[in-house]
Amino acid sequence: MQPSTVAGRGAVTWAKHIHHRVLIEPLLGSLEERQDCIKATKPAREVPIRLALLAEIDWPLPEELVKAGEMYAKAFVVWYEARRDSCSEYYVANAQTEKSQCLLQAQHYYDLVLKVNIAQIEALHAQHCPNCPWDGKTIFPEKQGNVY
Ligand SMILES: [Zn+2]
Repeated sequence: MQPSTVAGRGAVTWAKHIHHRVLIEPLLGSLEERQDCIKATKPAREVPIRLALLAEIDWPLPEELVKAGEMYAKAFVVWYEARRDSCSEYYVANAQTEKSQCLLQAQHYYDLVLKVNIAQIEALHAQHCPNCPWDGKTIFPEKQGNVY
């Protein structure tokens, strides 16, 4: 079935395989920052495949996914700035708790919208990411551990 809501990508930069168990998601930060994080924190055997698959995408995406992604990205920025700008430990604790809840809710909503649209995203992924080891759950189908 052809979806009726294919739109652009909105104001968010999107990427594939930022995390090994998420097919696509808004890029929170830069691609270079994520590449550096992978090099610094991931097992050496995973680094080449993670770096090879990580990329910005320019596929058209379902409109509701774009909106959910924008909301998630905005919630992340609010949370990040609250954390950065906080000047007392008391304020930090309260601001982070409240903002974290907003971020978690936005992330949960994004995950739900992605799940609802996963068949369309999987089809786009198959077109645009040939020879990918993604099995519908991970880019490391032989290994199910390592959540991030
Ligand atoms: Zn892929």
